[in-house]
Amino acid sequence: MSQYPFEFDPKIPFVEQASDWIADVFYERLPEAGFEVRDEQIYMAFQLERAYSDKKTIFAEAGVGTGKTFVYLLYAINYARYMRMPAIIACADESLIEQLVKPEGDIAKLARHLDLTIDARLGKSTDQYLCLNKLDDAKGEIEDSEIFHDIYRELPDFVNTPGTMQSFHPYGNRKDYPNLTDDQWGKVGWDVFQDCLVCTRRHRCGQTLSRDHYRKAADIIICSHDFYMEHVWTYEARKREGQLPLLPEHSSVVFDEGHLLENAAQKALTYKLKHAMFESIITRLLNGEVRESLAVAIDEAIEQSENLFYLLNRTSRKIMASDRKEVVVSAELLREINRFQDVLATIEEELVFESALFTLDDYQLKIVEEHIEMIQFALSLFKQPAGLITWVSEDKDGTTLVIMPKLVKEVLKERVFSKRMPIIFSSATLSVDGSFAYTADSLGIEDSLSFSVPSPYDYENQMHLFAKLQPYSSDERQEKIQLALKLLLKSEGRALILFPSREELEQFKQDISGYTDGSVYRFLFEGESEISHLIAEFQNDEHSVLCAVTLWEGLDIPGPSLSQVMIWSLPFPPNDPVFAAKRRDAAVPFDTVDMPYMLLRLKQGLGRLIRTREDQGIVSILDPRMNDEQVREKVEHILPQGVVLQDITDSL
Ligand code: SF4
Repeated sequence: MSQYPFEFDPKIPFVEQASDWIADVFYERLPEAGFEVRDEQIYMAFQLERAYSDKKTIFAEAGVGTGKTFVYLLYAINYARYMRMPAIIACADESLIEQLVKPEGDIAKLARHLDLTIDARLGKSTDQYLCLNKLDDAKGEIEDSEIFHDIYRELPDFVNTPGTMQSFHPYGNRKDYPNLTDDQWGKVGWDVFQDCLVCTRRHRCGQTLSRDHYRKAADIIICSHDFYMEHVWTYEARKREGQLPLLPEHSSVVFDEGHLLENAAQKALTYKLKHAMFESIITRLLNGEVRESLAVAIDEAIEQSENLFYLLNRTSRKIMASDRKEVVVSAELLREINRFQDVLATIEEELVFESALFTLDDYQLKIVEEHIEMIQFALSLFKQPAGLITWVSEDKDGTTLVIMPKLVKEVLKERVFSKRMPIIFSSATLSVDGSFAYTADSLGIEDSLSFSVPSPYDYENQMHLFAKLQPYSSDERQEKIQLALKLLLKSEGRALILFPSREELEQFKQDISGYTDGSVYRFLFEGESEISHLIAEFQNDEHSVLCAVTLWEGLDIPGPSLSQVMIWSLPFPPNDPVFAAKRRDAAVPFDTVDMPYMLLRLKQGLGRLIRTREDQGIVSILDPRMNDEQVREKVEHILPQGVVLQDITDSL
């Protein structure tokens, strides 16, 4: 049997033949299987042909219901087979990954209706795996220790007993522990301060074993934006350390919900420094025989790191409504940073001598060198404070200094978009006022194709939008709860309530528990269990109410289970250092930072309601700022065609 789903003729360009087959799928094969012919989908297929034949980046802006996932999957799979390298499908977050691969998801549908065997594997982020070392610590804690002992008892036998490589298999995925809350998972899941490279358990750890599995995918590897970006930033360093890159060589990339990529890129390029972590890494050198000058420099570096963190603790300022603290970049701080960098430079020089003496373990030496190089680079960003975003945060293990470069586009341009490879940005919201320049520029993309296709749905008749267009009472919180309860009565539950922040969700959770009218509904709160498990519960228990912070994008629940989307507050950006930096650089911050961010997220949130031509429902916005004329006008401008904003009080 041919590896392609069509008879391949080597005399005709491959992409042309794949396109003909894909057109046949949309015109004939899928309609025969009961799918409707969608003009928007066929248009998108012809557009992607250009990107694949010219190996270019394309912005594919396609409204809800165009069936864009089918289009990009068919191209990605065929092209992967032709190039003999898998395609990467990078989703905005882990819950979107699960939606793609769930049994009734788009990959399974294509496989079933086109009689294809698709080799699709998940490349989940490291923080989605259990860390055996953290599990050991968590077992010793008083709180929840029984839960953690149960997890330990259920580990595969090979984890704690000798065994052969053949019997090893991946385990310990966040999804395997659906009932663990996010807080409990935080105690046992991998985090950035775990040093897997030197961990003695890495060959038996589920996190590292999962890599071997997805690397062998023939067709597609599905991962998150965060993970793809981590792959990009760590590619060279991993190669230097003799490790495989996180992802294998690939034939094309799709960034689903691609408008969120800049955030992921910035997050992945973030450096986190902690005194305890530095001390534990640098003192490893003292396990070998080292010259006295190096030992002295190590002592000095530890002392200087302590001084730096002491100063940060003393001078950082609390940020209102945020768990982050603002770093005050003073002359004193810059002096301490310079001192720390000087002593690190001394150690780097000493290590050159040491490596020639062969008294230190080569592997350990490389790790320490990489670590120092990372710290040096991160601290050097303080020399151009205008291009820097930084803050400190506290947890039970001490202070963390977080350093993030403001602009990532130069790095992205060099490492991702200069490659001759088809790269697809797929989203319903990629352009601003009809232009893709804003997105392209923020990512360093100089040469790209683009197109837009609208949603095929009849929003005028399918979606009804309400907001209270009169002033709220002085007890706004209570009034919002009462409005919410009336609205829930209208749809008999079946609602998704979207919150812009975890704090607002927690406040709602606390408030609603005091209302007996609320007890008739089953509320599911994000964070109480694993997210895809929570989504499945919501879908299966038709009258339940899902309260979420991260599901503004991508959630796809067709049918009556989701008959109402309630916007608890308009999703203006948080008061954190990332947005503070963007605001500082803007001439009119509210218009160019806060408002566009809010409108983009709101548009995504509205998109959760209508998922098929049969869906009907209401969207309600419970935010007093809807009475601000400027805000209301902007919101009305992004509404789907035909949807009219109505006063909530007329309908209740
Ligand atoms: S390899 Fe990493 S995740 Fe696994 S146990 Fe070791 S430190 Fe934890």
